[in-house]
Order: sequence, then structure tokens, then C-alpha cells
Amino acid sequence: MDKCHVKLTKRLGQHLLVDPGYLHKIINNSDLQEVDLTLEVGPGTGNLTELLIPAAKKVLAVELDRRFCQILRDRFPPPFQLFEGDIMAAGGLNPAVVKLLPEKWALVANLPYNVASPVIIEALYLPNPPKFLCVTIQKEVAQRIAAHPDTKAYGVLSVLVQAANRAKIIATIPPGAFLPPPKVHSAIVKITRDPHQAEQIKSPGHFRQLVSRVFRHRRKTLRAGWVKLLPRDQQEKAAAALAELNIDPARRPETLTVPDFIALANALFN
Ligand code: SAH
Repeated sequence: MDKCHVKLTKRLGQHLLVDPGYLHKIINNSDLQEVDLTLEVGPGTGNLTELLIPAAKKVLAVELDRRFCQILRDRFPPPFQLFEGDIMAAGGLNPAVVKLLPEKWALVANLPYNVASPVIIEALYLPNPPKFLCVTIQKEVAQRIAAHPDTKAYGVLSVLVQAANRAKIIATIPPGAFLPPPKVHSAIVKITRDPHQAEQIKSPGHFRQLVSRVFRHRRKTLRAGWVKLLPRDQQEKAAAALAELNIDPARRPETLTVPDFIALANALFN
């Protein structure tokens, strides 16, 4: 980095994972030969990329910082593919990147923390979602992703991820494993698609919308929060769906399990 006069920018969440133990842990928990393409978001100087290239069938990396792109192109010749630009565009994943994703792909990365949650959720709700993700993110976000009902961490992120996937925290990482060390602790989280479970959700788009709506009033009961704030014509339908599913409207959103949310969405958007 000194050679190329690169100074790291906090705004882009530039904390390079330099501890080889954790880098190998990411690789060892990724079944890279199971997929035709491995997407890496935010390769930085290529610490993880270097291990991904020999282990994966094909690597596509997306990097926003031009200075890093220069370094990456010098380090890794084709077939390694580099997309210079933002992984996010217009609130979703960049369509120019999505176009490059085959049927069987995976996301493996030390993600830029400022866009980690949207990258994960948008990827999972693509028409061709990844077979698995093995990513480094902020520990607190990893805990939310893997959380169980009736806990403080359980919410939109937990339900949206667990609806069609299994989520597991592989390891927690102290700030000292990064250069420069971030203020927060990190974790490697593995998210694996469960096709059987995915089939249960009739309309993923509606499901996603419902989960966000219901959790908007986390501290209220379903009756006083979610139902009451729906447009009049939808209130009766919502109350009827809860009754049909034997979900007590006096419960709070965080007591609903993932299967509860799936059943509720299916009853409403059949
Ligand atoms: N994976 C590397 C670097 C992680 S730091 C390592 O562990 O060493 C996060 C990286 O994401 C930085 O290189 C940063 O420039 C890049 N980045 C930040 N926001 C981005 C975005 N919206 N799209 C693509 N890359 C981004």
C-alpha cells in the first residue's frame, strides 16, 4: 500500500483482514467447488482474493476504490474478473453485476460494513440467490442474522435471512486481526440456502414487505401495531389471517417464529 501511496478511507469501511488464520477459516468453510462463480465484494488489496483464486472455479470481485483496482489488476491476471464500481445501485444490487451471476454462485468476502446488511439481503432475494454466503461482518449484525425469537437481537434481519437459509456464526474476530483495527468486533457468518424451506414461501417479495411492516412496531402487540396501522380494507384480512393461524393478536412481533411469518405471508398473499 505504501508503494502505491494508498491511504485507507474510513468512509468505505476499509479495514483489511490481515490475520491468515481467519482468512483460511473463511476459505475452509466455503465449498467453493460446489459453485460456478464466487463473488467477492470489496477485495481491497486482495488478501482474501489470493486464497479464493486457486480454490474457486471462477472469481468475480467488485471494488469501488480505483486505487485498489489498480493493485488487483497487477496482482491477478484473467480469468480473475474485476468489476470497478459500487456493489449497490438504486437501493438494490448493481444490475451490471447481477447480470454476471450464473445459476450456481456464492458470496465470499470480508464485506464493507457500511453496506453489509443490504448486500446480504438483496443477494438472498434475487431470483437466483447464492447457494451460500461466507462473510465477515460486524459481530452485532452477525448476531442479529443468527438470532432466535424472543431475544433482543431477533428482528427483520433474522427472519429475512432464516426464511430460506440456515445461518451460523463460524467465529468471532477481534479488531486486532484487521489493519487498521475497526472499533467493533467482527464475526464470520455462514448462510446456506435450504431449497426445501425456500419452497414454502409463495411470494418472497410480499414476504419481505410483510416482515418489515410487522417489525416496524416492535414494542406494540400485533393488534395495536401492525394491524391497526394497515389501511382499513386490509385490517380485517390481517385479523382473519391471525385467527386462522391461531396467532394471538396480543403477541408482539419478536415472539413470532420464522414459520409463523411464512404462514402469515402465505395466508395474506395467496
Ligand atoms: N476484503 C479486503 C478489504 C475489506 S475492506 C480485506 O479483507 O483485506 C472493504 C473493501 O470494500 C474496501 O476495499 C472498500 O474500498 C470496498 N468497498 C466499500 N464500499 C464498497 C461498495 N459500495 N462497493 C464495492 N466495494 C466497496
